[in-house]
Amino acid sequence: MLPRLFKTGASLEAFLRPPRRAGKRVGFVPTMGALHAGHLSLVRRARRECGAVVVSIFVNPTQFGRGEDFGRYPRTLKRDLELLAALKPDAVFAPGEAEMYPPEAATWVEVEGPLTRRLEGAFRPGHFRGVATVVAGLFLLVRPDRAYFGLKDYQQYLVVRKMVRDLHFPLKVVGCPTERERDGLALSSRNRYLDPEERRLAPLLHRSLERAGELLRREGLPVGEVLRRARAPLREGGFHIDYFSLVDPETLAGLKGPALPALAVAAVRLGRTRLIDNLLIR
Ligand code: AMP
Repeated sequence: MLPRLFKTGASLEAFLRPPRRAGKRVGFVPTMGALHAGHLSLVRRARRECGAVVVSIFVNPTQFGRGEDFGRYPRTLKRDLELLAALKPDAVFAPGEAEMYPPEAATWVEVEGPLTRRLEGAFRPGHFRGVATVVAGLFLLVRPDRAYFGLKDYQQYLVVRKMVRDLHFPLKVVGCPTERERDGLALSSRNRYLDPEERRLAPLLHRSLERAGELLRREGLPVGEVLRRARAPLREGGFHIDYFSLVDPETLAGLKGPALPALAVAAVRLGRTRLIDNLLIR
């Protein structure tokens, strides 16, 4: 049986009233759809930990920049519902744009400071403002006790966690490990943009992050040298590197010297496709 689908906050709220009254914990997995096993791992975790599970599917226009892939982002609601059926979430919330953003909406949630200026923030101006605004709106409509985010989007996880603390949202943000293909490529809705040759090259991103980890851990090389060696195969493979850095996993500030734990984090472009990934080095 397909999961129950709700398009308005009011109908979802009515549906969630009985489980809430019964004291069930509400778990929430926000997504943009085009679901894959990474998303499903979040839903499975929510299902294990919560009495009621809500998955949202909303391609959020405000987190895409001009010239980004909002228009061609895959929208596969029917298939998403079929994939979710096996995991039995209680509800799927798929609001239309006018439900999430009332006409002439003019209110933003902005997490300021270095956390949103660094890495993705530097390459996608306004991205985290769009993310924080839609996630805050979704949190207020769904009112979850726990919200599940993938560590694949590590910076997004930190930004959401900070927003939750700063604005006193009464919920716990749970970070979940990255699901990968057998060859290491992190699952992503954008992987379907890759042509066969790009798909063959793409796992080099993960391998380069691992290489950075090995060099940092085992050989105690200076950070600059680690990065130079880890980036080289990507350059040779024709990747365009937006950034490839070793940073502090809490602040995302660039490492000055070899220190652990560290986060190796990168965004690259392969043809028209932009891929991000990261690896925690302990
Ligand atoms: P998206 O639909 O890309 O907005 O992703 C929805 C949620 O799924 C976010 O919390 C992502 O971090 C998470 N996610 C995306 N890819 C993966 C993956 N490969 N493994 C685990 N979680 C993921």
